[in-house]
Amino acid sequence: MILGIECTAHTFGVGIAHKGKILANVRDMYKTEKGGIIPMESAKHHRTVAESIYSKAIEISGIKEKEIKAIAVSNAPGLAPCLLAGLEFARKKAKELNIPLVPVNHCIAHLEIGRSLGAKDPVLLYSSGANTQIIAYASGKYRVFGETLDIGIGNFIDKVARHMGMGFPGGPQIEIKAKQGKYIELPYSIKGMDVSFSGMQTKIQQLFDKGISAEDLSYSLQETAFAMLVEAAERALAHTGKRELVLGGGVACNARFQEMCSIMCGERGAKLFCPDKSLLVDNGGMIAYTGELLFNAGIQEKDIDIKPRERTDEVKVAWR
Ligand code: AMP
Ligand code: MG
Repeated sequence: MILGIECTAHTFGVGIAHKGKILANVRDMYKTEKGGIIPMESAKHHRTVAESIYSKAIEISGIKEKEIKAIAVSNAPGLAPCLLAGLEFARKKAKELNIPLVPVNHCIAHLEIGRSLGAKDPVLLYSSGANTQIIAYASGKYRVFGETLDIGIGNFIDKVARHMGMGFPGGPQIEIKAKQGKYIELPYSIKGMDVSFSGMQTKIQQLFDKGISAEDLSYSLQETAFAMLVEAAERALAHTGKRELVLGGGVACNARFQEMCSIMCGERGAKLFCPDKSLLVDNGGMIAYTGELLFNAGIQEKDIDIKPRERTDEVKVAWR
């Protein structure tokens, strides 16, 4: 039994994994009335809910605390105060139970959870609030093949949604509005394998101020921004010769995004793996699952530190 803790940003989650199965996956998300995440407030949220989320996960899994062999924790990358809150809780539990800690890189966990669905050697298209990256395993490491040059796609969507008077998170509301919209051309910005969203953000805001409807802008945003990501992901598949695509991150909850990925994969004979929503968003289940892989490969520590800026290719991959 490996217990995993997710704490990198807005979500505090606890998962329990055993032999590749996730027995519990409980989480609670820090939300704001308006504006984005305040790191210290989110960390306070994590400290407040930690014990109850932990107890709920133990209860749902039906296991006894003493069966837990290690505590895995997402110590990287993320917001330092949030990471610290999670690590403090992990340390406390590890000490009480006299078991080791396992450090898990959050981005890699999004990819590994796709492997739990049957993908053997996939490309991960990771599209969340703060992160937009295309990651795949090559020459012994998880490498970033492409990424955003400015803001993450989710943050971009949330910013234009806020400008158009929608609340946070903007993604689900943009998806609803898009159903009634028609296409207008927006800046399509992809450089090699990298994407950028700030030009499109400015353009959408200007067009909205000139009276173009939120419906048309939402529709066009989806068609343009998602096409950029699908193009970069397709190029990563072509370049690496891999035939599996895994989706990760909250933006991948979008039905049109999934459809576009599915069409691209279909056209090139690749297989698409889209985890269930509970494993797509930030969650402790994927940390526990990945923690078990690391633990079985002999990775366990008495104490670990947070690594807010760790890059996926800095992680020594001893488990594959
Ligand atoms: P994460 O950081 O992975 O938790 O994802 C959060 C981001 O996903 C936020 O920016 C949301 O606006 C975005 N999001 C959630 N649901 C959707 C959706 N249906 N369509 C587009 N974006 C979404
Ligand atoms: Mg995430």
